[in-house]
Amino acid sequence: MNKKIAFFDTKPYDKKSFIEVNKDFGFDITYFETHLNAQTAPLSGNFDGVCAFVNDNIDSTVINHLVEHGVQVLGLRCAGYNNVDFKAAYNKISVVRVPAYSPYAVAEHAAALMLALNRKTHKAYNRTRDGNFSINGLLGFDMHGKTAGVLGTGKIGKCLIAILKGFGLNVLAFDLYTDEEYAKETGISYVSLEEIYKQADIISLHCPLTKDTEHLIDAKAIDSMKKGVMIINTSRGKLINTKDLISSLKSGKVGSAGLDVYEEESEYFFEDKSTEMITDDTLARLLTFPNVLISSHQAFFTREALHNIALTTLNNFKEFFDGGYLENEVCYKCDGPCLKKQKKRCF
Ligand code: NAD
Repeated sequence: MNKKIAFFDTKPYDKKSFIEVNKDFGFDITYFETHLNAQTAPLSGNFDGVCAFVNDNIDSTVINHLVEHGVQVLGLRCAGYNNVDFKAAYNKISVVRVPAYSPYAVAEHAAALMLALNRKTHKAYNRTRDGNFSINGLLGFDMHGKTAGVLGTGKIGKCLIAILKGFGLNVLAFDLYTDEEYAKETGISYVSLEEIYKQADIISLHCPLTKDTEHLIDAKAIDSMKKGVMIINTSRGKLINTKDLISSLKSGKVGSAGLDVYEEESEYFFEDKSTEMITDDTLARLLTFPNVLISSHQAFFTREALHNIALTTLNNFKEFFDGGYLENEVCYKCDGPCLKKQKKRCF
């Protein structure tokens, strides 16, 4: 298939997996390292499709530019789609995404953050390499028997619950849509957010970023949590009000935080900034806490996930150019996955 696709925000590992998988598709792909935004959108002229990632800012200016220059389809090579102005895209350009590529990868990373924060392995690693074999200050707690609160029991939340049950934690869950059969099978309970905040020793976020979930974790929510609570966010940065998190880390109300995502990550995450000053004071402050572990949006980053991302993304483009039904379309009118999938009209 000789359709031309412009890939934005590509790193060597993206290129490697897409080149391999594209052997079976034959698209004519050009890889740009730059983000897709209003300034770089002109690079997409003469392409049939555009592929973007989590920190590309696909606002109305970008959408209009793509449409005016004949781009027919925008393929997101990620699950989240909060960075796209769907209102601007509606009826002008099709938007497709990769709804699932490896929920295990993200859930396992959330668990890794929990274990490292609890047993302070990030500090132990540095200590022993420096000849310091003291264990003072590295005291953790048994996770067995503690209570975890999982917010969002979709694909990733459910994988994490399986891991946490394996460790012997009690799991409380919150979701807009409760799955009582699943709860019964796995021995978890769906409760209110307030109940989770009151009881949980560890809270892990696995819901999408929407207008309802933006700053879900703010000063008010944190006030109602247990003292010393551990908060894990592998979902989207804006689920947490970072300034409120910093205040509660300073006061000791929050005992530790594992963050794979950050509100203003787009300028830093995925980039090597080690020779530059960090000008984002909030991020710089977060990095000073010994009980905060930040990873750079790498929860998805496993071999299996990269392969699945490439396969689904290229298949999404193929479905579009073949003119068939779009399995993974995201639709503005449906406020998420398109209801056409269920053979219902979405408008
Ligand atoms: P999913 O769609 O399978 O599950 C999301 C769940 O959240 C659903 O059960 C939904 O009902 C629930 N939900 C929606 N709004 C809610 C609300 N207001 N309160 C509570 N629950 C709510 O999605 P998933 O595959 O499990 O992914 C979850 C999120 O993880 C994605 O939205 C994405 O932002 C993030 N993610 C991060 C990475 C990473 O590398 N860090 C990778 C993939 C996905």
